[in-house]
Amino acid sequence: MDPETSTTPEMNFSILGSAAPVLAPRVGKLAIPGRQAISTPHFVPLTTRGAVSHIAHDVVRKETAINSLFIGLEDFIEKKHPAPLYKTPVAPGESPLRRFICAPDDMPMILAPRRFPSIPCPPTNTETSVAILTSVGFRQLTAHQYVEAIQKLQPDIAIGLADIVTAKPPGTRRREKMVDRTHAFTRDALEQLYGSSVAEGKTSKAAYFAPVLPLENAQQLLYLEDLENEFREHLSGLALYESTSLSFIPENIGHLPRLLLSEPVTPHEILREVSLGADLMTIPLIGACSDAGIALDFVFPAPASTQERGEPQPLGIDLWPSKHAKDTSPFKKGCECYACRHHHRAYLNHLLAAKEMTAWVLLQLHNHHIMDQFFAGIRDSIQQGTFDEDVYAFNRAYDSELPSQSGEGPRFVFLSLPSYLCPSNKGTIRLRGHYIAPRQGTNHPKRMQKVYGRLDDLSEKFNESQSSVATPDTDAEGLERHGFAEKV
Ligand SMILES: [Zn+2]
Repeated sequence: MDPETSTTPEMNFSILGSAAPVLAPRVGKLAIPGRQAISTPHFVPLTTRGAVSHIAHDVVRKETAINSLFIGLEDFIEKKHPAPLYKTPVAPGESPLRRFICAPDDMPMILAPRRFPSIPCPPTNTETSVAILTSVGFRQLTAHQYVEAIQKLQPDIAIGLADIVTAKPPGTRRREKMVDRTHAFTRDALEQLYGSSVAEGKTSKAAYFAPVLPLENAQQLLYLEDLENEFREHLSGLALYESTSLSFIPENIGHLPRLLLSEPVTPHEILREVSLGADLMTIPLIGACSDAGIALDFVFPAPASTQERGEPQPLGIDLWPSKHAKDTSPFKKGCECYACRHHHRAYLNHLLAAKEMTAWVLLQLHNHHIMDQFFAGIRDSIQQGTFDEDVYAFNRAYDSELPSQSGEGPRFVFLSLPSYLCPSNKGTIRLRGHYIAPRQGTNHPKRMQKVYGRLDDLSEKFNESQSSVATPDTDAEGLERHGFAEKV
């Protein structure tokens, strides 16, 4: 096989340009039959319940260049099994997941057990399952259920189940357990998806990306060697939890696409991860900036005008301050996104102040466009062989951090967890309302206090007037059944 190409029946990945097999930036093309090809390096847009936050699918199609979706299975798991997702009526061969979330036919779908970034779960993982946070609370997702989900839902790419400890750095014994369990999950999944079940007609069309655990030197080398020796023929790619793992990838599986489950907080970090050889990356930063009212404002390679100014330029514009109230310029000069073509900073400032959801829609459109252009610039730069110089110039041209948020974004729930579960956030994590189960019973205070109530009086009066009208629409037996009276 050509060392620069990885081909499985499910997917083809060709490396178009790279200075070295590992630890070097590279340009490639990931092609899945019947789907849009993805040029790499690229970012994988994150979804909430199958939709990119704030943007409807038709707007995604018409006004963005988004060409893949990262979907967490835990978003769809409900109290009753099977969840509605599994009961979606489909034509033969059609993916119930694609139908359920109404994703376009040619949109590559990447399914992972958990959404990204995932919320730490207080229940621990077990030998056969991992703890997940569904809309109805914490649950366990067994390895078998996950493989079944891949078979039934037919995503284009499935990220393998991994025993990841998110709460605190695992000790030596726990790390050994992580390796053993994840190895078993991978072995069983590949066996069920592509192995002897072929004869039973249960094969999967999904390309399998094996999880690469966050491990240290010797242990990581051993883990990756095992992956290479035992599973190479069925692996379509690698899903890495840490950018440092990129340096341990053996040359023999260096041709596989690498999806980095990362949380870079600046474009500089993205460039560093690309320089280590990441092909696909998750970037929660895009949605976080949109929620914060910040319009990204950077270009790669940095334009000469930015470098000539002498001082580092801001990476984004905080649109909350009232200084934008009369500013009719686009979010970013020369930007061709829908938001910048049709609206201006003053309008967005007004929308934010009014807490109007369109603000976050427009910010998402703009920020995804900026990131898309950023990655297009990265690919050009690698192909022209100027990546290192361009990164150096970019780091000098722009601030090292994004501006901080000055206003209050969409409404969130702040959930307190033991601080060991979320050390970086001092014991508090920010969740969207639907990430957590509704409280049972009526005596709990509301999580989201109402922000309006002008119609309450009217509705109370209406209810009173209704209840005083004695017009039962049922007979004596009906009233008895409802507990209103007793028939004598
Ligand atoms: Zn724009």
